[in-house]
Amino acid sequence: MLCAAPFIHRFIYNDGLPNLCCAAQREATECDSQFQDWNGSVMQEIRRHMLEEDTLPNICSQCAEEEKVGLPSTRAVHNETYKDLGEPELDIVTGTAIDAPLTLDLRMNNICNLSCRMCGPSSSSQLAKEAEKHPDLWPPVYFDRYNKFDPTEIIENAGAIFELKLLGGEPSLQPEAKALLQQLISIGNTHIKLFITTNGTNYSKSFWGLVEKFSNVHVNVSIDAWGKQHEYIRGPAADWKTIWTNVRKISNISQLGLQQTVTTLNIFDFWKLREYSPFPVYSFACYLPEKYGIENMPLKWKERAIKIAKENNVYEQEKHIFGLMMNEGKPHYMKGLKQYTELMDNVRGQHLIDYYPTTWEMLEDIG
Ligand code: SF4
Repeated sequence: MLCAAPFIHRFIYNDGLPNLCCAAQREATECDSQFQDWNGSVMQEIRRHMLEEDTLPNICSQCAEEEKVGLPSTRAVHNETYKDLGEPELDIVTGTAIDAPLTLDLRMNNICNLSCRMCGPSSSSQLAKEAEKHPDLWPPVYFDRYNKFDPTEIIENAGAIFELKLLGGEPSLQPEAKALLQQLISIGNTHIKLFITTNGTNYSKSFWGLVEKFSNVHVNVSIDAWGKQHEYIRGPAADWKTIWTNVRKISNISQLGLQQTVTTLNIFDFWKLREYSPFPVYSFACYLPEKYGIENMPLKWKERAIKIAKENNVYEQEKHIFGLMMNEGKPHYMKGLKQYTELMDNVRGQHLIDYYPTTWEMLEDIG
């Protein structure tokens, strides 16, 4: 069963280690280095499996499960890209005749200036600092894992790139991202499909000045709510006025959309963002950490969220989110979120009741 990803694609985690794609299972960090060698025996075996077997390899269980229930899978996306590439001949050793990844999805390090509540120290150096000061708030951080990624190989192969996704952390702060964009410009490979996911806090010339030299740029700005409510979810450094000014500037050099994460924090009024934003808003339900997963809300609070949406005539347009919310969850994950939130609020000098009073009411009720 073919997936083109192992032949054309490379995914790099925040700790610099590679995997087949963003959907492939990650069992143990140490094992990921097995994918390091593009021509190595592990990559060869995965490619052979993709060409010769009727089932997907175990590492691809997410795609297999999604396809079993008729959902669109990451495999389908990569196979579509393969078609866009003109279906080059596949090779077990080299992937294609180019012998390098043609599409890249890069996170590379955890450098970030925000401290989003549903993120974690592995994706944000700001949260790693908070974790150091307040170990009760975050899981242990393995600092030695981060910021060691060597981008030399991808920079050397920049001429092969057809599609590039830059994420973080915050890509506008990554030296590796800037070096790669610089290289693409210097070799004239600026017509690639360039996708960037940013928090919108940093409109620096050193990053966006490079981005504006590309002709096909798509930017998702991670925005969870309008104004002060966004500052609460993404942490005190998420200055709304700066972010919204930057969003407008970025929209001048890209096709821009807002990427909204719907959590147990903003579930009662996430839809307001769509009312205020002149840009398209793409909403995703949060699953992890589980305490922010909307499917884990108690039924009576799910019903309350739907009632509020219906009263505001937005239920129909947001039905997909409420459909995901109504999936059977595990309400015990939300036990203790009240105490956790109070702890974090005290550290950050922000208080839930001032931003999300209905969520506060729900957490008081759950206890
Ligand atoms: S089948 Fe899915 S998980 Fe496996 S490599 Fe392809 S996209 Fe990734």
